[in-house]
Amino acid sequence: MTQLTLYNSLTRRKEPFTPQDPKRVTMYNCGPTVYSYAHIGNARAAVVADVLFRVLRHIYGDEHVIYARNITDVDDKIIASAKELGVPISEITQKYARIYNEDLAALGCLAPTHQPKATEHIGNMIAMIETLIEDGFAYASDGHVFFDVSKYDDYGKLSGNTLEQLRGGDRVGEGETARKKNPADFVLWKPEAGGVGWDAPFGPEGSNMKGRPGWHIECSSMAKATLCDDDYGNTIDIHCGGVDLKFPHHENEKAQSCCANGTEKFANFWVHNEFLNMGSEKMSKSLGNVTLVHDLLKKWDGEVIRLALLKAHYRSELNWSEDLLRESKKNLDDWYTILGKIGGLKSDSINFIGNEEIESLKFDKHLLDDLSINDGLSQFSATVNAANVAFQKYIKSKTDDASTTLHLFRHWITTNANLLGLLQKDPEEWFRGNTSAGDEAKITALIDERKTVKAAALAAKAAGDKAEMGKQFSRSDEIRDEIAAMGIVLEDHPDGTTTWRKG
Ligand SMILES: [Zn+2]
Repeated sequence: MTQLTLYNSLTRRKEPFTPQDPKRVTMYNCGPTVYSYAHIGNARAAVVADVLFRVLRHIYGDEHVIYARNITDVDDKIIASAKELGVPISEITQKYARIYNEDLAALGCLAPTHQPKATEHIGNMIAMIETLIEDGFAYASDGHVFFDVSKYDDYGKLSGNTLEQLRGGDRVGEGETARKKNPADFVLWKPEAGGVGWDAPFGPEGSNMKGRPGWHIECSSMAKATLCDDDYGNTIDIHCGGVDLKFPHHENEKAQSCCANGTEKFANFWVHNEFLNMGSEKMSKSLGNVTLVHDLLKKWDGEVIRLALLKAHYRSELNWSEDLLRESKKNLDDWYTILGKIGGLKSDSINFIGNEEIESLKFDKHLLDDLSINDGLSQFSATVNAANVAFQKYIKSKTDDASTTLHLFRHWITTNANLLGLLQKDPEEWFRGNTSAGDEAKITALIDERKTVKAAALAAKAAGDKAEMGKQFSRSDEIRDEIAAMGIVLEDHPDGTTTWRKG
């Protein structure tokens, strides 16, 4: 059996991953708060989770992995943005949820099994808060409901914080903390704002306390609603997300879920990816160096961005730069070139597992070792180059052996690239980029005309008609210039056909 090991933030060590039920492997990833475009740091978290999702599907089977990634569609920032623009919050949230999904699809991320929206789970959140109040883990105060961190002994275990440290400079009774019992208590329910609120029985003797949920309770409720049930229990296998969410968000999710569900563990594994830096600086709004996925996609193919995001181990900081993108583009151009030569991704039904020749390459060992994708990429690159050598051999001697080797290489590349979410396009499509249908038609027409002109020039030459020859040659030059002006390179093949790609 293939064994995956993962670094567990909770225990602070690498551990073999064993799901509670191999037929129902569960993972939760904190999704976006949809009031603006996702930045490249958000994309890193989503792409890392996507590779983990793919690896789990590879091990346990596609239908046995359940992945939930939420949409936070009620939040202070959304309400502020809606107020500023004078539109209902749903107008903002629907727009940015759609853009988020489109951007992630462009980065090759598979759709999660469930994508719950916070506003569709308010009833679950209210029920969870009621349980927390009833069991003494939460209390109402001045229109709010807070979680009492002093009631949960394990508070701080995930992030390494202690209640003592969390007291900070804030003292109970001052400012924001006036209504809290402990400075680290966090909000589960807060008063309605901007006309956004739901009825909830948290007031004195169950009276109405109209309001809206805090961010943390949203994830606890949605994880429970989408991944847990009575048969399965209330512990999920893996919770992932960016390291910036470890505290307070994940610490608070864990506290709420364990106390409301009466479980020792909310998630068996906590998987956190590191920060993405802009060059050597942290990416931050105050430094003005926030790069949006949406903007990057105007210049770079999503696959280039995805490969760039995978170039560092997920637990290392990734220094983002234009050079990293250029290098990734070059890698993909090289790999697609070789794939184009050896037959693209025309798949076959060979089961390479059990085939000694291919098994000895063992690409997945890198991924199974705490998702060491960066090591895997070196091997991947070397193997694609070896496939190119095999192709040269095949051209020289079209023996059955050479053909089989090429066949196996092709299958190896196809299967393993899919684990990374790369090289899933037809090579021809890759090189044509996002050429418009109109331009494609124009290029095809020019290629056809070029063929006719060539034939006419040859006929004129044979007939000794120099004037006609000159005419055809000058049209041929014009066609060449027109094609070059469109940034297109033509490739003539021995069988007389011509293909084109972006230069
Ligand atoms: Zn969350």
